[in-house]
Amino acid sequence: MTRTIFAGGIVYDGTTGRPAPGDVVVEDGRIVDVGTGLDGDVAVDCSGGYLSPGFMDCHVHVTLDNPSQMRIIETPFSLQFFSAAANLRKTLDAGVTTIRDAGGADLGVKEAVDRGMIPGPRMQISIIMLSQTGGHGDDWSICGGDVPFFLPHPGRPSGLVDGPDEVRRRVREIIRAGADVIKVATTGGVLSPHDDPRHAHFRDAEIAVMTEEATAAGIHVMAHAQGAGGIKAALRNGVRSIEHGIYLDDEAIEMMLQAGAWLVPTLHAPRAVIAAAESGLPIPASAVDKARSVADAHADSVRRAHEAGVRIAMGTDCGVGAHGSNLEELELMEQAGMSPLDTLHATTGSAAELLDVATDRGTIRPGQRADLVLVDGDPDNVTKLGDRVRAVFLDGVEVSRRAD
Ligand SMILES: [Zn+2]
Repeated sequence: MTRTIFAGGIVYDGTTGRPAPGDVVVEDGRIVDVGTGLDGDVAVDCSGGYLSPGFMDCHVHVTLDNPSQMRIIETPFSLQFFSAAANLRKTLDAGVTTIRDAGGADLGVKEAVDRGMIPGPRMQISIIMLSQTGGHGDDWSICGGDVPFFLPHPGRPSGLVDGPDEVRRRVREIIRAGADVIKVATTGGVLSPHDDPRHAHFRDAEIAVMTEEATAAGIHVMAHAQGAGGIKAALRNGVRSIEHGIYLDDEAIEMMLQAGAWLVPTLHAPRAVIAAAESGLPIPASAVDKARSVADAHADSVRRAHEAGVRIAMGTDCGVGAHGSNLEELELMEQAGMSPLDTLHATTGSAAELLDVATDRGTIRPGQRADLVLVDGDPDNVTKLGDRVRAVFLDGVEVSRRAD
């Protein structure tokens, strides 16, 4: 068996522990040894850089590309699957080796990666976001017709649902279609023109059914939740992660600590909406205004949650922003008061725990899958991190290397 040694660099192990110089030995796709003075048959030179567990983005949409209503209308239905292949490649090149798709990707997209037909990160999929009538996922427009963000198809049931009985059946249909996680919008959002991010959506009885059915199937629920009311409703009913979490009050933070829930901030997303509008994309003015008004409140919520000790996992909402720009999120998390090491932990070990894959990957220690990223520089600096990813490895095999 060939022993590959990653030698001459610093090892960041995916925890909050201090990085240190060291070697990592990989055999048959798994890490078998971590230490100093190790040997191997084949060497990967890590000098001038550090080795990290492969990065994880817990909130992406690989079938989306800077969506606007006009763009959706003008995009052929099946183009989304080819776009997904291109976006998965960009994501992997960025150093992201595991993603959780927060809506859009169906089982075929995941299977194409699993079967090696297209290169991409390992995936967990939610398929579609559950939304109440008038909620963040309701496609109805004031023209009277639907502008379908995620057109329902055999692999992707509609997410529009009202009342506990309908919710139960729909959650079962989404699980049947292959979901690894159930996604719900418990508040309005930024990109949808006719709802408000501060309003709570779904009542407790409906959310309780979602977590009940997910738990029965051995999976978790993630909630798009921006206003405090909808965040608390999600937490009261057993949701595992709060996505966005723009308006967190002290009670919501306390509830997150009690529940052991994660915050997936996606600071990247509102900035991407503003940047897209400024570059001339036809984003509705209402969405741009909402994006501007949330940016400061959002960073403040992340700061207070982090100070209180809430678990944080990295997520970007890429698809709203550009695929492959995922690692910009770490700089934004740092600006919101997290140390560089905390942002790396959110993107490796902490994310792996949220995704329930921590016994397989997310840290560098013997027995773990050798999904690895080699980064120039040192782990105490996450500025322009995306430009410094030198090489990416899945199961110890190089799948991407930056052209110099
Ligand atoms: Zn999203």
